[in-house]
Amino acid sequence: MKTKPNDSPSQLSLLESEESGVTLASPNPKSSSLENAPDLDNARAEPRPFAGRSQRTIELRRSGPFMELDGQKIPIELSRSRRRTVGMTILEGRIKVTAPNWVPLTEIANILDYKSRWLTNRLKEWQVRQANKLEPEDRWAHGATVQFLGQSCALKLQPHLEDVLWDAKNAALLVPSAGDPNHEQVRDRVHGFMQAQAKDILKERLDALSEKSGRGYSRFSITHARTRWGSCTQDGHIRLNWRLIQFSLAVIDYVVAHELAHLKAMDHSRSFWDEVATILPNYKAGQQGLKGVTFESVS
Ligand SMILES: [Zn+2]
Repeated sequence: MKTKPNDSPSQLSLLESEESGVTLASPNPKSSSLENAPDLDNARAEPRPFAGRSQRTIELRRSGPFMELDGQKIPIELSRSRRRTVGMTILEGRIKVTAPNWVPLTEIANILDYKSRWLTNRLKEWQVRQANKLEPEDRWAHGATVQFLGQSCALKLQPHLEDVLWDAKNAALLVPSAGDPNHEQVRDRVHGFMQAQAKDILKERLDALSEKSGRGYSRFSITHARTRWGSCTQDGHIRLNWRLIQFSLAVIDYVVAHELAHLKAMDHSRSFWDEVATILPNYKAGQQGLKGVTFESVS
């Protein structure tokens, strides 16, 4: 079910692009907030757990304002201008906001809250781009960032650890570093951990969605190919790429639902997408998360 755009907290419409603009119900009656056909799918595809003042993710501090995105404190740079809209983008790992002079800070904070999912996605894209620019020695070193279950995790090399551990609360992946491993060994340990997790978690999601929808499959396996996220054969053998474990559960569920739907239709016809929606009504949220992602861009 789609939520109507006009029940949003501040009567705004969105212009989705590299920069996101929010048109406000301004004192100037000419700049109606419904001027630009609102496409709220991106921002509203999933319920926003942090909506509302009481759980605000934005902090104003003496050192400057921050916003919590994906468990990280991201600095906000605010500049005022004569423009009519509030614009925002991720620039060099910061949130850059440009707002008209008359918009109060509390309203800007509301807008940022409202756009937190969009901002999180842009931040992740930026982080992945940064990680890809690194030499392998730096990419698999202490302090580098990897994606796990949709969370940006810092690699922390720990000499006294035996197995790789995920510290979700601190957004870290702890990697044993006894014997002073080189970057290839660090990478192999991280990948080994992710593949083991993928085996369990992807199977778990497949079983959950298969049971819920009553669509049975015959066999499941993990693939390593850098060609596709998943596949399904006529006889019900579903294969899922272990690298999906780097994405959020919404993305994983979308791929799982996609492959399950192929049990009914082997093409991408209308009835196929109807089937996807039956299995996972909110599939567009996860589908969005895979848009533009190439195999070159995942580690
Ligand atoms: Zn397909």
